[in-house]
Amino acid sequence: MSFTSLGLAEPLLRAVAEQGYDTPSPIQLQAIPAVLAGRDLMAAAQTGTGKTAGFTLPMLQRLMESKRKVSPNRIRALVLTPTRELAAQVGESVRNYGKHLPMRSHVVFGGVSINPQMMATRRGLDVLVACPGRLMDLYNQNAVKFDEVEILVLDEADRMLDMGFIRDIRRILALMPKKRQNLLFSATFADEIRELATGLLDNPAVIEV
Ligand code: AMP
Repeated sequence: MSFTSLGLAEPLLRAVAEQGYDTPSPIQLQAIPAVLAGRDLMAAAQTGTGKTAGFTLPMLQRLMESKRKVSPNRIRALVLTPTRELAAQVGESVRNYGKHLPMRSHVVFGGVSINPQMMATRRGLDVLVACPGRLMDLYNQNAVKFDEVEILVLDEADRMLDMGFIRDIRRILALMPKKRQNLLFSATFADEIRELATGLLDNPAVIEV
């Protein structure tokens, strides 16, 4: 099975080839067609499985296909991660896989100055990768609004819950349009994750690798 047969568009296939990947990993084989079809997703996947490309590639294609414009202070896709390190890594993947698309992306997390982050969100973004705490700070400063989010990704959701981000996450979810695509990634499907998934996901494709 090749990346081409998964239904990815040329600008994404070119970026994948430039990364040197020739075969999709098991999670990519399952996640990419489901996300391209517009399904919600619940995936149990550890780091190292290729999960980042598994959601980033089809997310970028969905954004490309929906053709909506970016509005000031709005974001079209939001990826939430528990740590700065993961946010930075995912942000780099978004840049790499989206390099042949006209996509504006940015990464925000705490521990660094908020002003450049406010400048970046002011024009609006196709993709924002964020840790929940700093994202709430930006919201409270009116730097970002969630009413045009088309796609939400929760990456390493179990770690976000362990780190006490559930309240921030629930506040952010309540500010989003009801009609959107939701992708949840977690190392395990513990009870709290299932509970979060039940409220969040609509008839999700379920993947365990
Ligand atoms: P992740 O699980 O998303 O953190 O990815 C783990 C590593 O696998 C990253 O360094 C990716 O660049 C790499 N990778 C992702 N997909 C593929 C693939 N299909 N073929 C080869 N390497 C890949």
